[in-house]
Amino acid sequence: MQVHVENDANCAALGEFWRGAGRGAGSIFMFTVGTGIGGACVVDGCVWEGSNGIAGEIGHHIVAVNGPKCACGNKGCLEAMASGTAIVRDYLRLAGPGSKDKRGSVTARTVVQRARRGEPAARSAMLRAADALGVGIANVFNIVNPEVIIIGGGVSRAGSLFVRPAVERARQLVYPRFRKLLKVRRASLGDDAGLIGAAYAAYNLR
Ligand SMILES: [Zn+2]
Repeated sequence: MQVHVENDANCAALGEFWRGAGRGAGSIFMFTVGTGIGGACVVDGCVWEGSNGIAGEIGHHIVAVNGPKCACGNKGCLEAMASGTAIVRDYLRLAGPGSKDKRGSVTARTVVQRARRGEPAARSAMLRAADALGVGIANVFNIVNPEVIIIGGGVSRAGSLFVRPAVERARQLVYPRFRKLLKVRRASLGDDAGLIGAAYAAYNLR
C-alpha cells in the first residue's frame, strides 16, 4: 500500500481549491487562522512548496519589525499579531487588570462573542488582528498574485469583525494599479476542507 503524508494547511488549501471557495480559480492562496496561522499556495492543482518545503508558511512572515515575540523566536510575525492566541493576549492587556477573567479562561471564541456584544476591549483586539491580517493579505497579493485569496480557520468565523476589516485594510495596501483585482473569500468547507484536500492529493497521486 502506498502512503503519502501531507501537511494540514496544504490539505485544507487543496480542498478549498478543488471543492470550496477557490473552485474554478487557477491559483489560490489560503490563510488558516486558528490558534496559530498556517498557509498554502495552490497553483494548477499543486501545492507550491518551494525548494525546502517552507513556501506558504505565511504565519511567520513579519508584518511588524518590532512587534510582539512569536513562538518561532522572531518578532512581529503575522501569527504573533493576528492569530487566536494573539487576539486573546491583546484582549487581556486591553481589558486591564480590573478584568475578572481568570488566566486561561478566555479563548479567541470568548473574545469574538464579547466583541459581538460591543465590548470595547474585545472589539479593539479583533480590529488590531484584522489590521495585521490585512497587511498579510496585501503582501501575498503583491508577491504571489493568486487569483483568489481564501481565509479559513476558526477565527475566520468572526466574519464582519475580522475578515471584512482585514480585506478593507488589504485593499488600501495593495499595489494601487491592481487594487480592483484583489479577490478575497471566506473558506466554505469548514473543518471538512482538510479531509477533502487529502482525498484530492491521494487521487492525484494515482
Ligand atoms: Zn514566527
